Amino acid sequence: MVDVHCHLNFHSFEKDYDQVIKNAFAAGVTKIINVGTKIDSSEKAIDLAQKYKNLYAIVGVHPHHADKLESDWLIKLEQLAKKPKVVGIGEIGMDFFSYKSNAIVNPILQRRIFIQQIELAHKLKLPLQIHNRQAGKDILGILVKHKSYLLNPPGMFHCIAGSIDILKSALQMGFYVGFDGNITYDGLAPGEDTTLKDLVKYAPLDRIVVETDSPYLTPVPRRGSRNMPEYVIITAKFIADLKGLSFEEIEAKTTENAIKLFIL
Ligand SMILES: [Zn+2]
Ligand SMILES: [Zn+2]
Repeated sequence: MVDVHCHLNFHSFEKDYDQVIKNAFAAGVTKIINVGTKIDSSEKAIDLAQKYKNLYAIVGVHPHHADKLESDWLIKLEQLAKKPKVVGIGEIGMDFFSYKSNAIVNPILQRRIFIQQIELAHKLKLPLQIHNRQAGKDILGILVKHKSYLLNPPGMFHCIAGSIDILKSALQMGFYVGFDGNITYDGLAPGEDTTLKDLVKYAPLDRIVVETDSPYLTPVPRRGSRNMPEYVIITAKFIADLKGLSFEEIEAKTTENAIKLFIL
């Protein structure tokens, strides 16, 4: 099983990432992709990939940081993206959700850095790992406009959320979709009108990958504690139940999908 999106590069794993990685492999996780959200966390993701077999990095600037960038960020990101074991550009995209800790970043800036990173991915022939929160229409509009820049497959929507129509459009463009521990939560997330369970049911198994977004989005029954890559297994079991398939089938297919998409 592959956790295609987590943040062991973040502060909350600073003291025990080694144990967390060992626990994940012992539990049955076979590969882990750590994802950057700005330049320094992208560097850290690469450091971890260089230190451990079966760890990989995705580098990029999250829309939350679109208004806090230094002028040479894109040059630095390109240098990082060329390093060994970097398998994608992410997490990139747009986010129109107003967080307590972070108001909505100027959409013009979000859009600009998203497009600059699509162009970089095109130049380096790397798939995209897209972050979308309540910005599905804008993101899809940008992707359609830059269709000639996309690989086949073009990448994935990480922690997919939104309407069935957004999901359909992403699938039509060839994207894979990632599900996280929040599919185990009851009800609707703020601002959403479609449950994640319905998205899981709709998404075809040959396009699904699993992820944790550790340290966030811990699945039930671990909710309330720090998320870790080993809990990707809980999410995969939940997907198996929702789809009426065996855990082994979900494990095999999502692993195959992740390896194919990111050439692991
Ligand atoms: Zn994200
Ligand atoms: Zn993330």
